[in-house]
Amino acid sequence: MDYSKFGNKFNQDAGILSLMKDMGEATANGADDLIMMGGGNPGHIPAFQEKMQRRLQDIAADDELCRKLLGMYCAPQGEGDFLTSLAALLRREYGWRIGAENICLTNGSQSGFFLLLNMFAGEFDGGRKKKIRLPLAPEYIGYADIGLSSDFFVATRPKIDRLEEHLFKYRVDFSEITIGEETGAVCVSRPTNPTGNVVTDQEIDGLDQLARDAGVPLIIDSAYGVPFPGIVFSQATPRWNENIILCLSLSKLGLPAVRTGIIIASEEVIQVISGMNAVISLAPTGFGAFLTQQLVDTSEILELSNTVIRPFYQEKALAAVRKFDQELAGTPYKIHKPEGAIFLWLWFENLPISSKELYQRLKKRGVLIISGHYFFPGLENDDWSHKNECIRVNYSQDDALVRRGIEIIGEEVKKAYMAG
Ligand code: PLP
Repeated sequence: MDYSKFGNKFNQDAGILSLMKDMGEATANGADDLIMMGGGNPGHIPAFQEKMQRRLQDIAADDELCRKLLGMYCAPQGEGDFLTSLAALLRREYGWRIGAENICLTNGSQSGFFLLLNMFAGEFDGGRKKKIRLPLAPEYIGYADIGLSSDFFVATRPKIDRLEEHLFKYRVDFSEITIGEETGAVCVSRPTNPTGNVVTDQEIDGLDQLARDAGVPLIIDSAYGVPFPGIVFSQATPRWNENIILCLSLSKLGLPAVRTGIIIASEEVIQVISGMNAVISLAPTGFGAFLTQQLVDTSEILELSNTVIRPFYQEKALAAVRKFDQELAGTPYKIHKPEGAIFLWLWFENLPISSKELYQRLKKRGVLIISGHYFFPGLENDDWSHKNECIRVNYSQDDALVRRGIEIIGEEVKKAYMAG
């Protein structure tokens, strides 16, 4: 077939595609013996699922709600009552000067990022080109192939703080960041997928200032973060102003299948995204909005985040770190301080094999993790050895399986260090 550049863009090997395929194939083949510590599936939290089941039953029993849920398109901006309720929550809880006109829904925040990042970077009138500035890489693999033009990202290596014994933390290296005319927007995930790093309030303030000075938006990807689902184990204040585009998602609350992303931005930006929604999909899904409407009305979504969702992941994170400490003792392993999200990021300094090879060996042993080399969009031409020394491990699945997975990772890492 003779595909356009646009078609070919999606016909090539994309990191996110191989990752989702790996996950899909493993599940489809009924590979019950595979330990899935690779993908981004959230954990199963019965208390949250029960709530959603009850809500579904209530909707199913109500003719009017059922008709709205199933039988009508939403507006291109998303389900109107939900937008109004969410704006009210954000005014009530954080004092943001915000209305429904500042919020738009998308079919998952991933597709929201596709729209947003291509809206601010790529080719401009007069032959100008702009890029998305990632102030810190490693960064989310899902951005890497999103750009409709080449050379789409520019990223900066982080500073590495070596903390107590086996922990470290990435920090934004402001001395290396310049935001000039070639920058279309600054984008950071908080907490960061893959590392579990939470960019501090001070770092966010610094980035906000840099972005404003340059007249470009700061996009904060809060898919795991504040205000919800609140999977943050350190301090993170929810931030928004007219120059910040805050992206939320219902996925990591436990609703990845309802595909609901939320963009909070200036009215001007929201209008463009709504226009894109109309052209691409007429309207975003209202499913997630209907399911969570009451939780938003009552602010219960925040309480659930703090009392159910966060503790679930925090306990698992601590247990996983303890297990890794046991299994990797005697090797020079390092773990990024787990500050949020649903992953641990492990750094095997001077490992004689690449993280990709380690991934292959672990796959043969029935453990799926993700090689860290995918997570450096914007640093493709940087020969930093660190890029091939890290792996991402999802610790949110069944405890016994995660423990077994960590034992196998420990065995393979020790073997690799010993052979070197
Ligand atoms: N942003 C980050 C950092 C993510 O990890 C993910 C998914 O894992 C997304 C965005 C996209 O999430 P969704 O499209 O399910 O809202």
